Amino acid sequence: MNLANTLRRIALAEPGRPALYEGDQLRHDYGALAARVACLAGALRSQGLAPGDRVVLFMRNHPAYLELMYGCWWAGLAVVPVNAKLHLREAQWIVEHSQARWAFITTDVGTGLQLPGRCIDVEGPEYAALCTGGQAPLEARGTDDLAWVFYTSGTTGRPKGVMLTHRNLMTMGLTYFVDVDSIAPTDAIVYAAPMSHGAGIYAIPHVMAGARHVVPASGGFDPAELFALGRGIGPLSMFAAPTIVKRLVDHAEAHGLDGAAFKTIVYGGAPMYVEDIKHALRVLGPRFVQIYGQGETPMVATALSRAALMDSAHPRHAERLASVGVAQTPVEVRVADAEGRALPTGEVGEVLVRGDTVMAGYWRDAEATAAAVRDGWLFTGDLGSMDADGFLTLKDRSKDLVISGGSNIYPREVEEVLLLAPGVAEVSVVGAPDPEWGEVVVAFVVPQPGRVVDTGELDAVCLEHIARFKRPKRYVMVEALPKNNYGKVLKTELRQRLKDEALKR
Ligand code: AMP
Repeated sequence: MNLANTLRRIALAEPGRPALYEGDQLRHDYGALAARVACLAGALRSQGLAPGDRVVLFMRNHPAYLELMYGCWWAGLAVVPVNAKLHLREAQWIVEHSQARWAFITTDVGTGLQLPGRCIDVEGPEYAALCTGGQAPLEARGTDDLAWVFYTSGTTGRPKGVMLTHRNLMTMGLTYFVDVDSIAPTDAIVYAAPMSHGAGIYAIPHVMAGARHVVPASGGFDPAELFALGRGIGPLSMFAAPTIVKRLVDHAEAHGLDGAAFKTIVYGGAPMYVEDIKHALRVLGPRFVQIYGQGETPMVATALSRAALMDSAHPRHAERLASVGVAQTPVEVRVADAEGRALPTGEVGEVLVRGDTVMAGYWRDAEATAAAVRDGWLFTGDLGSMDADGFLTLKDRSKDLVISGGSNIYPREVEEVLLLAPGVAEVSVVGAPDPEWGEVVVAFVVPQPGRVVDTGELDAVCLEHIARFKRPKRYVMVEALPKNNYGKVLKTELRQRLKDEALKR
């Protein structure tokens, strides 16, 4: 079953339904979108690309993104979306590693990319011609055929190419309706986060539902633009990393806005701190759903529903807010020891996921695949514990754990507490090598604009909430935290900074 069939069926039944917007301007209805997609497929096939070939998309968020995803699938090809913020050299590495034949770019991002086949600017005449030639019939695909090679965001080392099949993405799309949200045809998803990642993946359920797709005119995240768009074309749904949620909330507060411009904000991809989600719910209302997943099981491991987030009368509401929710419908989630054996309730171990969203493996890396997927279980590298009700709470990735004087300290727990101190905007906790303790806890703290944070108060809040040994031995005030292009804090950089400083001393 080809994923592009989900577009074809809506286009046949409801050709006049609005499909694709650039800002508040409707560009194509479903009939026109499917026609362009079939023409693109026709051009790709007639110019020598064969089913299974890879096509790189190295472009900022753009209406052509949706056309190309579905155009490639229609033709039986696999897409390789590359984060638009990567350096040209990093993107070139992905082109070579994925053995892609063609690429589509926007010139602000992809100029200079070298391909064995063609490299086409989606804003140029060549692209326009590809969208209006002869149409290809929908290529038959098996459910295990490759649809998307997702290069991991790689907070350390070389990215790996996660192979996602039509089955993986079909299952992910259908799961949205059960575990995340309903979608009406009049709903609109806005792509305010990179379409090469979760935001673009969520195009799939919105095509399934025949809903509207909105690419902001800015091509990126601008809170004022999003609030205006939501007022203009109706409440928006979106996927957002916690940093983006924070900026939306700050904007709403600064301008006295409520959440009416949004239907649903699905957050995930990095830890959302309890204080931050409480604040977001207060300012924007009951519009949030949390998902936890990773490229290797895209968007699907657990979800914390809107209802669970709002159920403040529940005796374990506080714990649930700190959790990532319960296993999504098509997967089993377990917390296990190093051999993959399930651990008792409440114990911390590695999070494992099994089900139809789990990747087919890493592209051209059998060794990494064998290490990541064993007996069908994906070893996520995340540490967590499961409560008796099936709610999973993530601790940290195993490499971020701090071991001080033989005791395990989960940075996330310390971060949650430090955020309670007055004047703290953001915080990140890492371990620094220490001759006496092995490692000691160091907190990097970003004060709120115009505020000075008193380290005595940070200590006091720690002593009030957590064991004494977890309290940071040192605080480093910084203006901003280093983050990757998806908004994840680069703890490796923070650790390196501490090591460099130690060497200088
Ligand atoms: P990526 O493959 O780039 O999507 O990164 C996936 C990783 O992000 C996961 O393995 C987690 O470490 C982290 N992550 C994803 N969702 C959440 C979440 N809801 N809360 C905390 N961390 C998350």
